[in-house]
Amino acid sequence: MFNLSLSSHSLGKYFHNNWFRSTAVRLEKIMRRQVAKQIKTDPIKHERGEVYLVGAGCGDAELLTLKAHRLLQETDVVLYDYLVSPDIVTMIPAHVEKVFVGKKCGSHSMTQAQICQLMSHFALAGKNLVRLKGGDPSIFGRAAEEVAHLTKHSINFAIVPGVTAASGCAAWSGLPLTHRDCAHSVRFVTAHFKNENIEYEWQNYADSNDTLVFYMGMNKITDIAENLIEFGKAASTPIAIIDQGTTAQHRILISDLTQICEDLKSTDLVGPALIMVGEVINQRSEVKSEMLHPHYKVAQRCL
Ligand code: SAH
Repeated sequence: MFNLSLSSHSLGKYFHNNWFRSTAVRLEKIMRRQVAKQIKTDPIKHERGEVYLVGAGCGDAELLTLKAHRLLQETDVVLYDYLVSPDIVTMIPAHVEKVFVGKKCGSHSMTQAQICQLMSHFALAGKNLVRLKGGDPSIFGRAAEEVAHLTKHSINFAIVPGVTAASGCAAWSGLPLTHRDCAHSVRFVTAHFKNENIEYEWQNYADSNDTLVFYMGMNKITDIAENLIEFGKAASTPIAIIDQGTTAQHRILISDLTQICEDLKSTDLVGPALIMVGEVINQRSEVKSEMLHPHYKVAQRCL
């Protein structure tokens, strides 16, 4: 610890020489700065940081909200997922600590428990933190688990929504999610349950006219198509797979429930991909999504 009683004034009394006096002033400034730094990094002496769970939007960096952008400029630390666009990561100022926490389905670079631990570690050390997630944090984004952890540690938090993959992919593809004539509602369905024994509501899905949007469904496409047919959905029901939605590589494959698996074999979709099922696919409009990527000059491909 530094002894602040050793002030420039007291030193100046001993050294009636200008050089010594200015050195003493400089020395005092350095000491004060050191003490201030000590207080800032000492976990016992400072306040807790605040946490923002922020949606980065899906794919295109320009889908980031102004609020999310401001928070990224003002924060101390950002923990970000694999679905966050690299263009957004480059918008984070150099002095902000950036931690990639991964969480790609099947290849997590950190477990959910470790991510929660890291959030509370920074917040309890007085750092403000942005937990940046692809799309919207509350849609298959495990926001609830992170919120529970923050609540347990009495850490203040707020949630900033983002453009979810369903909205982004549908807009870029010229697909409505609902339609007055054929789809009065839309369902967001996960194709991956925490507990694989949980029964899907196939009967319910097959009976309704809702637009079904399956997240994380690429390696479950056979199950999805077969089950919908088995539970009574017309085999001719249109289905679309939208790959890398809203990016310059945006691609869409349109088929029907009987043909989709065969058609998929002749493509090289890499994901992330979203599956849409329902009559809205027949309402597709000729949207010029390349207009949204003036810098890339790449038109979306319909496979
Ligand atoms: N919170 C995110 C979803 C996370 S789950 C959101 O609101 O969008 C991850 C799944 O989202 C992926 O497996 C894929 O099904 C979908 N997804 C995310 N980004 C996508 C994109 N750009 N194009 C297509 N699907 C995407």
